[in-house]
Amino acid sequence: MAAKVIDGKALAATVRQEFKRRTDSLIEAGLRPGLAVILVGDNPASRAYVRNKTKACADVGIYSLLSEFTVNTPQDDILRHIHQLNADPAIHGILVQLPLPPHFDLRLILDAIAQEKDVDGFHLYNVGGLISGNTVFPPCTPYGVQRLLESENIDVAGQNVVVVGASNIVGKPMALMLLQRDATVCICHAKTRDLAQFTVLADILIVAAGKPNLILPEMVKTSAVVIDVGINRLPDGRLIGDVDFEGVRQKASYITPVPGGVGPMTVTMLLGNTVESAERFAALRH
Ligand code: NAP
Repeated sequence: MAAKVIDGKALAATVRQEFKRRTDSLIEAGLRPGLAVILVGDNPASRAYVRNKTKACADVGIYSLLSEFTVNTPQDDILRHIHQLNADPAIHGILVQLPLPPHFDLRLILDAIAQEKDVDGFHLYNVGGLISGNTVFPPCTPYGVQRLLESENIDVAGQNVVVVGASNIVGKPMALMLLQRDATVCICHAKTRDLAQFTVLADILIVAAGKPNLILPEMVKTSAVVIDVGINRLPDGRLIGDVDFEGVRQKASYITPVPGGVGPMTVTMLLGNTVESAERFAALRH
């Protein structure tokens, strides 16, 4: 039987209603959640992601402030701006859209964000918190995947989870978050020899490599849960994931589509982290 397709768009819409209700309550209490987005350079994909995030904020009632910097902006100007946002009571979340142009010191910039406003979860404190299970904010893409699994009551405890992709923003935090939930986790990357010998063992396979059709049906265990984080744009403009969706869905028990799977949940969890942050600020006022 073909896999159940997990509808990330529908789940995102439901979860956003919850975040809208929480935003409305905060506004009633005199505090509108605020997200600052920093965009450096003119990467068209980054610009599209930022547009998507600020629109999503508007949809749930979160105030968003977009600050744009040219690629030639001195790094100190960006750091100074982050420090101003750290001190701004109207702002509860700050994110720097990645990737940054390569001449910027990514670590220095991310670590300039106040921990309590680090809604993307990339500050070193948050990264370290993934090890011990007490982040201030979980990073949004793995958090979205976790929420997708929960929505289908897929318990990860004791399951073999294979994460394909070991980046700092998706693969590694994803693996640590699932380990924290008692999964047995294996992380694969570009230098993994014979990827299939790992992926066939996965009860839950999470793929975030950015390689179209990396995962073929013969690499997937029958009835596995397959979560496709990858986003790849084909020359004809279509978006596809890293998984051969049509082939693998005949074998898996659950699968996420691209688009309409993990993507909408990533932005949704960013909204959630921002609302959560605003609630913490509100609690401190009392
Ligand atoms: P990244 O920084 O380029 O990392 C890719 C990871 O995949 C690296 O660890 C790399 O290994 C590994 N990899 C590359 N080719 C591989 C192969 N043939 N076999 C096994 N592993 C391989 O990318 P990212 O930022 O993590 O993003 C990954 C994908 O997810 C991209 O398509 C991105 O667009 C998408 N994404 C989607 C969302 C969403 O919301 N849906 C959010 C973020 C990212 P090495 O470490 O050895 O180089």
